[in-house]
Amino acid sequence: MQRCIREGLVGGEAFAVDASLIRADANRQKGIEGENGLPAEATGRAVEEYLAVLDDAAFGAATEVTPKFISPADPAARWTGAHGGQAFFGYSTNYLIDVDNAIIVDVEATTAIRQAEVLAAKRMIERSMQRFDLYPAKLMGDSAYGSAEMLGWLVYEHGIEPHVTVFDKSTRQDGTFSRDDFIYDHAGDVYSCPGGKMLTTTASLVNDGATLRYRASKYDCQACRLKPRCCPKEPARYVPRSIYEGARDMAREIAQSWQGRVSRRLRKKIEMLFAHLKRILKFDRLRLRGPNGAHDEFLLAATAQNLRKLANLIPAPKLKPA
Ligand code: SF4
Repeated sequence: MQRCIREGLVGGEAFAVDASLIRADANRQKGIEGENGLPAEATGRAVEEYLAVLDDAAFGAATEVTPKFISPADPAARWTGAHGGQAFFGYSTNYLIDVDNAIIVDVEATTAIRQAEVLAAKRMIERSMQRFDLYPAKLMGDSAYGSAEMLGWLVYEHGIEPHVTVFDKSTRQDGTFSRDDFIYDHAGDVYSCPGGKMLTTTASLVNDGATLRYRASKYDCQACRLKPRCCPKEPARYVPRSIYEGARDMAREIAQSWQGRVSRRLRKKIEMLFAHLKRILKFDRLRLRGPNGAHDEFLLAATAQNLRKLANLIPAPKLKPA
């Protein structure tokens, strides 16, 4: 990586992040019910590493959901059916790349869960700042990195433009008004509804401690002819708004601009690196077990990809005739 920076191959302006699943060296037929936990007779280096990362948010503490199956040979490998086909035990390899020349800036192994992949993205961005003094102006990513909290972290904590697809489930499918039908007024910190009334907040945080509720007056809603299309089962309508909504709005605006379209195209460079990893380097299954084994193999594979890129981009020195 230092050599890539010295050769001027890393712009440090725009990064992209993504993760890909790699099969673990764990036989799916030998998985045991996750509910039963790890058998007492399971021992070995992979088991010790599994116990060591139980409280790590990139592995054991990434979710409270018990996996359907657990592998006694490599218990940190996650049982996943995320590819849509037959489920298997696997790890995620997370890449942070500089999009100028698709150089891999950092790589991290995590369990195959979205929360762990988002955490890995944050760790890799902070590590690239500390190790290489690289402060990206923008980050490109798919909706896995588009939660309100992640967008808030990018914009408010690091001043990074979020060229990330917003993870948004606010559109209603039952024909009633969605949140987009309510217009937010920044100056007044109120929403106005399709009926022209105001929704206000008491500023107390609800749910995850990061959401405000804006409520219409019961008096207004009960006299409103739009009530059947707005809040047919409630006395008054409320609209939730994340405290990171400003960052989400910024990501939405970028997505609709030409820069957003360019970023979506550039983001494919990271997908091509994963395709290259699996199809050309034939790295679709780990040979080593445990989180450390996965980390070492992912790091070696990413290094090999960067070396190939260096060899392609920097012409070999010409030999002088004797
Ligand atoms: S029901 Fe209430 S919130 Fe909905 S449009 Fe009417 S006044 Fe506005």
